[in-house]
Amino acid sequence: MELLKQRILQDGHATEDDVLKVDSFLNHQMDIDLLNEIGKEFRRRFAGEPVNKILTIEASGIGIAAIAAQHFGNVPVVFAKKTQSRNLDGELYTAKVKSFTKGKVYDIQVSKKFLGPEDCVLVLDDFLAKGQALQGLLQIVKESGARLAGCGIVIEKGFQEGGKLLREQGIRVESLAIISSISNGTVTFA
Ligand code: 5GP
Repeated sequence: MELLKQRILQDGHATEDDVLKVDSFLNHQMDIDLLNEIGKEFRRRFAGEPVNKILTIEASGIGIAAIAAQHFGNVPVVFAKKTQSRNLDGELYTAKVKSFTKGKVYDIQVSKKFLGPEDCVLVLDDFLAKGQALQGLLQIVKESGARLAGCGIVIEKGFQEGGKLLREQGIRVESLAIISSISNGTVTFA
């Protein structure tokens, strides 16, 4: 997606060799016009799928998913929670995820009320690096018995193994920008 790539080049900052900061337009301050174009592009790519629910993970996935949902006929968005909360009642699907940015392992949770065999789910997230976050979400989709339409990723870091591992499992992964390297602050696309 050309618009996204241009924006990454213009406003993204590579802090270390493998981390890209896009907090001025994607995951802290959010550019709603850009998110709207991102939502449209996800819809275009998954047009053939009868998506009736979008699943993401807090926090950065929520804004992306909420705007994308408007392009899928306002389907509900469910986000996996990373912390135990008194608001989470009833039975839960859980999976363990190792955080790429924080390095620790945490549980993610989704209420069984909001995902089941009747659903066709599109999983969305901001970044795909080693694939841990997505693998956790996919484990929950599998346990729920829902059908998986595929995964939509805004930025995939193609030099890390997540995308390859998922595609090898036969999972459809659509990434709007794939970065092949980050070196000395310079981003190169695949
Ligand atoms: P993974 O689980 O695929 O290793 O990492 C995905 C998660 O880590 C994403 O949800 C995202 O929040 C975070 N992440 C991974 N790489 C980056 C990065 O380069 N920049 C930012 N801002 N977040 C990242």
